[in-house]
Formats: sequence, structure tokens, C-alpha cells
Amino acid sequence: MEEELKALEEIKAKIPEKILRKSLAKLPELSEVEVVRHFTRLSQQNYGVDLGIYPLGSCTMKYNPKISEEIVRSPKLTQMHPYQDMSLAQGILRIMYELQIYLSKITGMDKFSLQPAAGAQGEFVGALIMRAYHRDRDKRRNEIIVPDSSHGTNPASASMAGFKVIVIPSNDEGLVDLEALKASLSDRTAGMMITNPNTLGLFEVQIAEIARMVHEAGGLMYYDGANLNAILGKVRPGDMGFDIVHVNLHKTFAVPHGGGGPGAGPVGVKDYLKDYLPIPTVEFNGKEYYLDYNKEKSIGRVRSFYGNVAHLVRAYIYLLALGPDGLERVSEISVLNANYIMMKLSKYYDLPKAKGKFRMHEVVLSSSKIKRDTGVRTMDISKALLDKGIHPPTIYFPLIVEEALMIEPTETESKEELDRLIQAMIDIREQAYKDPESLLNSPQNTTISRVDELKANHPKSLKLTWRYIR
Ligand SMILES: *Cc1c(COP(=O)(O)O)cnc(C)c1O
Repeated sequence: MEEELKALEEIKAKIPEKILRKSLAKLPELSEVEVVRHFTRLSQQNYGVDLGIYPLGSCTMKYNPKISEEIVRSPKLTQMHPYQDMSLAQGILRIMYELQIYLSKITGMDKFSLQPAAGAQGEFVGALIMRAYHRDRDKRRNEIIVPDSSHGTNPASASMAGFKVIVIPSNDEGLVDLEALKASLSDRTAGMMITNPNTLGLFEVQIAEIARMVHEAGGLMYYDGANLNAILGKVRPGDMGFDIVHVNLHKTFAVPHGGGGPGAGPVGVKDYLKDYLPIPTVEFNGKEYYLDYNKEKSIGRVRSFYGNVAHLVRAYIYLLALGPDGLERVSEISVLNANYIMMKLSKYYDLPKAKGKFRMHEVVLSSSKIKRDTGVRTMDISKALLDKGIHPPTIYFPLIVEEALMIEPTETESKEELDRLIQAMIDIREQAYKDPESLLNSPQNTTISRVDELKANHPKSLKLTWRYIR
């Protein structure tokens, strides 16, 4: 301490007198209780899975077990340095290695890379792998096929990787139209990107035939793993005919997400594609774990260091805690919950496509009829849900459903909580017919009332300025 004070004095002596402070800086003075109350209030204005159901379809907003948070905050992990010698990082490398293996087993793939930071980045990696694979064979292949129900990131990642995107329509059953697929296949087809169950919550029952057709045309099959929660332990993308998959750890494997924070989207491939995976992968030589950068055909590095390591550990903990039987229960209950909601709400809201068919883990409803009858839109209904203290579902997606409300309850909600959402949606519909005006200004009970969508989205109302810098 004395030495430090002395060092400080020495530094001070070097500062010219005229710029030295004469009096203490005026910093805002707040008491502890004021600060605590401020941040507590802010936290109370937030909404998250710890507060109630968060039924954002396609996002799989399940509960994040607190034990995982406790473990990843251990100094044993937080005090590690990415440049630490690998001999001192054997524990974390083992976790990552085993996670690669578990994910391979769950998806039916041969080899995983834990690098990508999200599903979207996994798709981009997948598209780059397709590009590298075809370059080694047939340079002309420059088209990726996606269904019209696909998530926006699918065409975006394909396009970023330099591909032309071919969109094919869904049929009346909400599934891939095989005739349209056939017509879009050619010697320019690099591959197809698809999620199964699809974004309507429907299982693509013809997936094996789809994969056969794409393969026969010389393309590869990419599995968007965002909906893996529905099929855990039941079927594997690898067995459906997929060559490349990503897994959203922040969806299926209970890693926190939302708020645009970083996720984790490991990518797995079949044996014949493993040389293209991003570097480094974690390997084991029978004695020790190590990072392998030595891959000539690799598409390269896609992220700093080794992936979003804390998220990888959370997913690993979740897998160990549940085991194979637990994972199977996850998909069973998530499917049961979605169908319970469908059965209860399809009397009040439209059920577009595949009427009378069970859904997988999510259900897409539509308020088209309510809009025609009352003028109340899906947007108003979701704002009204906020007034009832419930986070709205995903809305206006998938794009092929008008006035869409896409509900994914996940397996971690109780029946009481499902009933609370169902009752709120029934009550709002009733209010739409009785007093539509009252819904147009919701939400009223939230800290911020209805935001101006136009201002939020329209560039004309933004003040754009620029300056030429020489
Ligand atoms: C969430 C999602 C993605 C993108 O995943 P991110 O991890 O958010 O980048 C892709 N496809 C579907 C169907 C999704 O729901």
C-alpha cells in the first residue's frame, strides 16, 4: 500500500501545476438506497421468462435453470484466459469436446464445430460449407432453395454467402410442395435450407423424399435447428437426410437469450463435410484435449476464440441434468402444451392450413376474421396482452399467414400459466367485438404506451445527417 501511494505521488509530481484540480470534482452524490431503488424499479419494468410465459413462436423461450448460472459464474471459468496454455485448460476443453459428441448424437451428425455465435451465423457457415463443397466438385452450383415459410435469416445467410435464393411455395397442408420443389431443382442447385417441424409447427412428413430429391439433383440438405425442441430424442435430422445442421443452444438447450444478446449456434455435419468445418475444433488424442487448427479445407474462422464458451457450458449442464429420457420428455411436453393451446384457442381464432391436424411444438393462429369483423388487428391483440401482464407471441410471422399469431409455449410452463394465456386471448377477442376502440390504444398499463410504429420503422421520420470527413 505504502509503495503504491508513493508511486501515485510520483505520478502526481509529473503533472503540470496549472492543470491540477484545485477542488474535488462535482460528481452526482447518491445514497445506496437511492441507487438500489433506481435499479430495482428498472428491473421491475422488464419482462422475462422468470416473470411469466413468454410464448414467442420459433424462439423457444424456455425457463433457464439457475443452477447453470451459478456454475458458469464460478471463478474456475470466469478467471480463465483464452490464451492460457492448453495444458491448463483441459477441463473446459473436455466439456467442449463432450458437448460436440452429445450434439452429434442428438442430431445424427458425425462432427460438430462450436464456433458460430447464433443460428443465423450457423446458417451462414452452412452456406459457406456448401460453397466450398461444390467448388471442390462443380463450380456452377449457385442456388439455394428455401420454402416460403422459412425464417428470414435463411434467405439472408444464403444470399450473404453469395447464393441466389429460390423460394418455393407451401401447399394447402402447409408443407413443402413436392412439385414446386421438383421444378426448382437443377444442376445449379447447391442445396436446400429447411426447418422441421416447419414454422407452422407442422412436421414435414415427406422430408426423406425431399432429401432424396435434393441429393439426386446434386444438392446438400441444411437443417435449420431452431425447431429441434419438438423432436428431441424422437427423430434425428441426420436420419431424415440432412447433411449440415445448426443447433440454437439458446433455444433448445435452455441457454438465456433475448435482448439481442449473444447466443450459440454450433454447426454439425456428416463425415464427408467435416474437413470444411470452421477452425478450431476441439479434439482428443487419447491423452489430452487440444484445439485443432490444422484443416486445409476449412472455411476458416468465423468468430474470435472458441465460441460463446459460457453458453456452451450452460448447454452441457442442461444435457447432463436431463439425460436422454429427460430430453425426450422435453419434446413430448412441449408438443402437448402447443396442442392444448391449439385445441382451446382454435374455437376463437382462425387456424390457417392443415385444420384438424395436430401441431408439433408451436401453433400459428390468425386474427383475420376478427380484423374483418371489428378492425382489431393482431398488433392490437398483442398490445392488449401486454396490458394483461403477458408477453405476446411472435406476430406477423410466418409471412404466409395473414395476421399471424405464432405461439410456442415450451415444456416449462404449467397448465395454470397456459390457461392464463388462453383466457387472456379469449377475453381480448370478446373485447374486440364489444368495444374495438378500447383496444386500439393498448397498452395502457405498461411503462411505455403504444409506440409509433411508423416513427420506429420509417426513415422519413428519422433525422439522418452526415458529414464529409477529409
Ligand atoms: C431463431 C430462428 C433462426 C435464427 O436463429 P438465431 O439464433 O436467432 O440467429 C432461424 N430460423 C428459425 C426458424 C428461427 O426460429
